[in-house]
Amino acid sequence: MNSHPKGLYLLFVTEMSERFSYYGMRALLTLYMVAALFTMTRAAEVYGTFTSLVYLTPLIGGYIADRFWGNRRSILAGGTCMAVGQFLMFLSACFIQPSIHAEGGAIDPTVDNTLALWLMVCGLGMLVIGNGLFKPNIATMVGDLYPQDDRRKDAAFTIFYMGVNIGALLAPLVCGIFEGSFQDPGRFRWGFLIACIVISLSMVIFSLFKSQFLVTPDGRQIGLAPSRRADIKQQAAAPLTRTDYVHMLVIVILAVFVIFFWAAYEQAGSSLTYFADQQTDKTFFGWEMPTSWFQTFPAFFCVVLAPVMNWMWQKMGRFEPHSIQKLAIGLALLSLAYLVIAFGVKDVTPGIKVSILWIISLYFIQVLGELSLSPIGLSLVSRLSPKRFASLMMGIWYLSTSVSNFAAGKLATLYPEAGQTKYLLGFPITDLHDFFLIFVVMSAVASILLFCLCPLLKRMMK
Ligand code: GLN
Repeated sequence: MNSHPKGLYLLFVTEMSERFSYYGMRALLTLYMVAALFTMTRAAEVYGTFTSLVYLTPLIGGYIADRFWGNRRSILAGGTCMAVGQFLMFLSACFIQPSIHAEGGAIDPTVDNTLALWLMVCGLGMLVIGNGLFKPNIATMVGDLYPQDDRRKDAAFTIFYMGVNIGALLAPLVCGIFEGSFQDPGRFRWGFLIACIVISLSMVIFSLFKSQFLVTPDGRQIGLAPSRRADIKQQAAAPLTRTDYVHMLVIVILAVFVIFFWAAYEQAGSSLTYFADQQTDKTFFGWEMPTSWFQTFPAFFCVVLAPVMNWMWQKMGRFEPHSIQKLAIGLALLSLAYLVIAFGVKDVTPGIKVSILWIISLYFIQVLGELSLSPIGLSLVSRLSPKRFASLMMGIWYLSTSVSNFAAGKLATLYPEAGQTKYLLGFPITDLHDFFLIFVVMSAVASILLFCLCPLLKRMMK
């Protein structure tokens, strides 16, 4: 395999630690809220709003970086906001008092948790701002390490994506050790503190090595403020060309397709967790696997399968699909993943538990789709964006995840409940089979459409 610049590994470690911090906190968040602050429904609403906002702000973070600060300063500011946010979560859990008398019980109105609540709200706010400044800017820098049309870019983003998932894999396992309960909600604070320490360390490493490793192939520093970049100044003098606009349009069109992918993918945190909890047999030789562990499966498969995918694309040589075809393949694989489980659970009624292999197959195939779509998408955005709007375009790419998280929450409410028929566009959803078919159809239609648009989009990319 062709070697990659050292800067890639610095960005890998920085992103891995940031994702560790984000996913570690996220794994605890809902549990923390229901342990002492909110009902399940309210906690689900807050969680949905938070995950959606977290991907909305990269639009602003991307703009600030392109216009004023550059990537490096935005990352440092974002990481610092996140560290403060995690620290506020820690403080919130230091002040929390038990307020429920039994698991899932009503909140005792005589217990005053106002301070803990406000600390949490401010903490989540800082995380939303921090992620906005951090997320689009780190991915943009990966692209800058290579010449514009370097063929190693897809592989580079796949390696970077492994970093994302190593963080996502380890975080719930480590922070999960400090899961509190309604009797002891304060115990959550240690999980939040670990998240705070890890993001702070990541910022120290980033500041120490950024100047040494973050350089273009011809030795220029990358991620500086636009006022200090000759290439940007040069571009800013010339108005955007028609080609630039067409390329930006391609990114927007692809971002719309990607919404369908993440809306199905993000079921992991909601409907698929109910499914794992209530309808999956998790007992092995008398030991029951915790439901929260299911959320680590996709990240685990990502880490294991990313090198396999890189190797496979490389082996295909001139038969390697075009990046847009890879995105369409990703959507098709997602559809297949849900098709497998839809047939696995056919005729399964509430109360019956199915083999764990069904959900494992779903995640396995879904991750093959993810690796075909997510890192390749980042690579495409980096190749197509005009340099002076690179981070803003990355923000637009992540905006699709924001919309998806919102849609995912709405779709999850269609999860079948005994004795109730729910409807989607007039079609009745009566059982699990119907529910999973929603995602099969949704992503199959998106995939077919994208395949059809491929020739046109390829021409637009020229
Ligand atoms: N798992 C990826 C991450 O956390 C996916 C983000 C996305 O685009 N939805 O970076």
